[in-house]
Amino acid sequence: EDTEGKYHGCWPVIEEAHGSDYVIGMSYPHPEEFGSKGFVTADRDGDGWVINGAKSYWTSSAPCANYAFLIVNLPPHRSIADIGGCIVPLTLPGVTQGPPIDKLGLRDDPQGELAFDNVRIPAHYMLLAEPVFGRFATKGVISSTSCGMACMFTGLARAAFEEALKYTRERVQGGRPLIEHDVVKLKLSDMFLKVETARYFTRVVLRHVSERSRALTFDQSTAHALSAQVYATNIAYEVAHQSRQLHGANGLTKDYLIEKLYRDATAGLMEDGANEALSLEAAYSFLEEGRYTTE
Ligand SMILES: Cc1cc2nc3c(=O)[nH]c(=O)nc-3n(C[C@H](O)[C@H](O)[C@H](O)COP(=O)(O)OP(=O)(O)OC[C@H]3O[C@@H](n4cnc5c(N)ncnc54)[C@H](O)[C@@H]3O)c2cc1C
Repeated sequence: EDTEGKYHGCWPVIEEAHGSDYVIGMSYPHPEEFGSKGFVTADRDGDGWVINGAKSYWTSSAPCANYAFLIVNLPPHRSIADIGGCIVPLTLPGVTQGPPIDKLGLRDDPQGELAFDNVRIPAHYMLLAEPVFGRFATKGVISSTSCGMACMFTGLARAAFEEALKYTRERVQGGRPLIEHDVVKLKLSDMFLKVETARYFTRVVLRHVSERSRALTFDQSTAHALSAQVYATNIAYEVAHQSRQLHGANGLTKDYLIEKLYRDATAGLMEDGANEALSLEAAYSFLEEGRYTTE
């Protein structure tokens, strides 16, 4: 238990040569087709493991974290399916943490590179030492992170909607507040429907995944979790765009919150997996699991 805030973690997964491969590779039947170049590898060495390679500069919190749950490639390093996971203190010799990258949205969440040059960890830091556990655990972890993304971006959609309500009540055009024009009411109604459907879908999926996680049954529907992320991030992007349009030119300035919400919503379509890759993996998952409901 970290009562003093000593542990600041990050989750480095993707590499320069493998981005969506890691999402699609969870269920894709022939992951060897994705190639075997550019992995961060872990190899047995005496009573521990040695790690080499670089993760891409997209790892969130990499510039400031002090621990990583690092996704590694295990021997015999044939493909993305030889996946493992270990804890790496980022203060160990051989670890390099890159500076924060300069990006469009979610700027309060810094990303940066992590490189590993003969970094030694003791055997018990390798939590997922068999690929079969790695694949299994990745599905469990991504179900939880997808729920987190769905909650965060449902919240963003709601904030964008509320900004639109506020602005259209204040801004007068055509002799009356924008909100009194029926065309504007129709737009707000459409945004309301989107926010509410995202909220209900996210809530149902979050309840399902949390119940299964707490019960340690490991039978959560990955397809529902991934789809909740895709749905909520798409809705957030659409509602932020609609709200920004209702703000007129003011929506393009940093004086209005909607400018930031729109940039953050754009980043949400890619964070923790491109929506296209997540949708494809969702299809593989429900076909494999043969389940189309959370019951
Ligand atoms: C804000 C933010 C935070 C992030 N945090 C982290 C983090 O903490 N840890 C981490 O490891 N990563 C992180 N990422 C990286 C993120 O996981 C990747 O950006 C994402 O998985 C996509 O990989 P990529 O950028 O390499 O795009 P690519 O995989 O190169 O995809 C480019 C485009 O091609 C499409 N595409 C890719 N493969 C296929 C295919 N087989 N068939 C058809 N179309 C395809 C994709 O849908 C996409 O539109 C973060 C990204 C962002 C934006």
